[in-house]
Amino acid sequence: MDDSTRQKVLLKFADLIETNQEYLATLTRATLGAPYKPFGKSEIDTAIGCFRCSFDIPVRVWTKPILIKLDYAGWVGKFAGQSFPATDGFYKVVRNEPLGIVAGIIPWNGPLASIGLKAAPALATGNVFILKPSEKTPLAAAALGKLAIEAGFPPGVFQVLTGDGSTGAILASHMKVAKVSFTGSVPTGKNVQVLAAKSNLKRVTLELGGKSPAVVFDDANLENAVKWCVNGLTTNSGQICFAASRVYVQDGIYDKFLTAYRNAFAAKREVMGDPESARSEIGPVVDQAQYERILRIVDTARETKDGKLVQGGESLGEKGFFIDPAIFLDTAPDSIIAKDEIFGPVVVINRFKTEEEVIDLSNSSRYGLMAGVFTQDINRALRLSEAFDSGVVGVNCVSTISFSCPFGGTKESGIGRELGIHALHAYTEPKTVLINLTY
Ligand code: NAD
Repeated sequence: MDDSTRQKVLLKFADLIETNQEYLATLTRATLGAPYKPFGKSEIDTAIGCFRCSFDIPVRVWTKPILIKLDYAGWVGKFAGQSFPATDGFYKVVRNEPLGIVAGIIPWNGPLASIGLKAAPALATGNVFILKPSEKTPLAAAALGKLAIEAGFPPGVFQVLTGDGSTGAILASHMKVAKVSFTGSVPTGKNVQVLAAKSNLKRVTLELGGKSPAVVFDDANLENAVKWCVNGLTTNSGQICFAASRVYVQDGIYDKFLTAYRNAFAAKREVMGDPESARSEIGPVVDQAQYERILRIVDTARETKDGKLVQGGESLGEKGFFIDPAIFLDTAPDSIIAKDEIFGPVVVINRFKTEEEVIDLSNSSRYGLMAGVFTQDINRALRLSEAFDSGVVGVNCVSTISFSCPFGGTKESGIGRELGIHALHAYTEPKTVLINLTY
């Protein structure tokens, strides 16, 4: 397909998502349970912005709308290769070639945004894209299949394949699939990499879990730190990969921070409720299995005294899988609540004294997706930005994303990056052509 036609198809697809946004949001809400605003709307806007440039999206309810500059339709025809002069007798051309058939396997917690992040750069660079949504939230993805046909993608170029993990495993081990871009949990990500290696050594991008630390120093702006840390844990009921689920607070500000954090946390109950109501900002957790798992983890931690539960951790209301966000203090470093991703509204808060101590605490995790530091001291902020072992660092912010910059994790949080130009590299293979000028 020529560049201009491909660009038109991508832009039309973005228009169709926009026109059908309420319908798509309803399909996601029916399965995920997150209210339309802020989460449902922001993930649809992310999907649109991935295909089309210049889109104002309210990324998070507590930040101003930002201009999204992803624009993978705009990249069509511009992701040029390189050329090198023939100083050694060979003129060199490096081509960025599409991989062929690529698959995107996505989780349930932000289905439409995940599709945009993967499908837009894959299709912009000329690949065939097969989407495997999560079995828990497949409806909006299935509806997108119809819109892909209407947008004018040639038959088969954008496919939606529903199914559970076994369908994902077929894609990960298929000999004709050249790449899998996977977003999900660490154990499944490791499985996908094994299947990829055992089949055709397909390329793999892994966007996995996190246990992101937020570090609050004595000199931090208290109001700002509380706002980001609380929103970073309650958005989508804590079911976001970069949730600020470990908070470290310096001695001098600890008492004030804890009081303000607890109050702000408790206030979230007021905006938690029926996802169909315009008053609600936070819904239930995704399903009964997730609800029972989270409450079991909280109960075990309470019984084994892995930390002091000072607030929440119980089911809320008579109906639906609502969980009152839980705060544990002074947690045992090796406990499940301190170490593992819970993927729900559970936070652990611990004190620290020195910068060195908190760097060690922050990095003592198998995850490395995001870290945040709250301080007014720019030198300290820069020292911590370097010291954190994570793919993304927030200074005076946390649990957020910039759409023009790479997103992904270090350590067991994954391999590779999404967003920005990095996504285009992830769906192409450089090929070097040597032209002999010496005969
Ligand atoms: P999951 O690993 O259970 O499932 C993810 C997807 O993989 C689903 O589509 C599932 O059907 C499929 N799958 C399951 N078994 C498979 C197999 N053997 N081979 C291939 N595919 C298989 O994850 P989940 O519970 O859906 O999502 C929650 C996880 O996703 C959390 O750990 C969260 O942190 C992570 N996540 C990460 C990011 C990120 O960008 N880093 C973003 C969102 C979510």
